[in-house]
Amino acid sequence: MTDLLLRNVDHLLTMDDDRRELAQVDILITDGVIADIGIGLETSGEVIDASGCVVTPGLVNTHHHLYQSLTRAVPGGQDALLFGWLQTLYPIWAKFTSEHMFVSAQVGLAELALSGCTLSSDHLYLYPNGSRLEDTVHAAAELGLRFQPTRGAMSIGQSAGGLPPDNLVESEAAILEDCIRVIDGFHDASHSSMCRVGVAPCSPFSVSRELMRDAALLARDKGVMMHTHLAENEEDIAYSLEQFGCRPGQYAQDLGWVGSDVWHAHCVKLDASEIALFAQTGTGVAHCPCSNCRLGSGIAPVKAMRAAGVLVGLGVDGSASNDAGNLVLEARQAMLLQRVAKGADAMSARDALEIATRGGADVLGRPECGRIAVGCRADIAVWDVSGIEAAGSWDPAALLLAGPTTVRDLIVEGRQIVRDGQVTTLDLPAVIGRQNKLARDLRDVL
Ligand SMILES: [Zn+2]
Repeated sequence: MTDLLLRNVDHLLTMDDDRRELAQVDILITDGVIADIGIGLETSGEVIDASGCVVTPGLVNTHHHLYQSLTRAVPGGQDALLFGWLQTLYPIWAKFTSEHMFVSAQVGLAELALSGCTLSSDHLYLYPNGSRLEDTVHAAAELGLRFQPTRGAMSIGQSAGGLPPDNLVESEAAILEDCIRVIDGFHDASHSSMCRVGVAPCSPFSVSRELMRDAALLARDKGVMMHTHLAENEEDIAYSLEQFGCRPGQYAQDLGWVGSDVWHAHCVKLDASEIALFAQTGTGVAHCPCSNCRLGSGIAPVKAMRAAGVLVGLGVDGSASNDAGNLVLEARQAMLLQRVAKGADAMSARDALEIATRGGADVLGRPECGRIAVGCRADIAVWDVSGIEAAGSWDPAALLLAGPTTVRDLIVEGRQIVRDGQVTTLDLPAVIGRQNKLARDLRDVL
């Protein structure tokens, strides 16, 4: 048995079913599970002194394209709308190899870890030059982050009336075959799973109706989750009405894309009937406020969705449309953006943190994560509130109002992967150097 004890936590935000907040407590972790929460706990294992710290569940990221960390702030895409932005970036992404996928995933996942994230999904929907989903799976395993990669896909290229260039799309038979390969090879359905694979055609405007339907059938046959982009902006709604003769919610429902095993990214433009549909069916939403701001997509109706009972998690989205990948700042942005639309009482700091923790875990079908309670997985973020960011705060647990934007320590499945603000499992300066070289080389080729 491996024990780890977090001792003298100043303030614990459990995000358990009663949303308890506890002062001056210890948390005992045994074999990757939270074994006890109380005062004066003992261990023969390692002890982490958490005095002066706020402790929360590890944050959960429900939408990302890790590979995009190699194309941050590309000049031609800095001020473009969604479709123009994609057309600027597609030719660059077409040059990517397995090495680009691996290194960019290392960078994206390490950035998430430093911002308190213990569980992240990823949506990889292009596979140029022999790159594969496992390039990212290996990066997550090396770092030690809990991972939910999805096998994305695009099948309608420009010559068939789609948006992506033909060299970035695959045949639908090859897509389904590779979905089966990566599920069989890397999906672990167990309670303690560190890797669950999902199926994720990129969006209704880059794959056929048949692939959407077949992907859903395959996912349900294999018992894995499904993910795609939906109702991201007005262009997206117009495309759906013109091409499919219906709104995105109807399209999703017709093809089997609603249910507790489905989550959709963005959903900025869901209308009231679509919100009701998502609530009735247990369909989840990955809310990506920075990306929605960055691309001018609008303000997702998160307050209305939550009031209706829709499961909502948080996503940083790809680093090319954010351009950062800091999940705790994303939670702050979610809080601020709802207030722009609905007033100062639209979302509290604690509500936004709830979306970022247990909200995301529920969206990803991992209710054993995202809360600190006995029997849950030991995924924990430790925030040092003794620094300048929280100096003078009357409520340090209101982290999103005044608090640090990186963790002091991060524990995933009982293993400490950030200690004193440093990633313990990677040589991060070397990874950053490698990423910068890859980005420079791409720029030189273009
Ligand atoms: Zn996205």
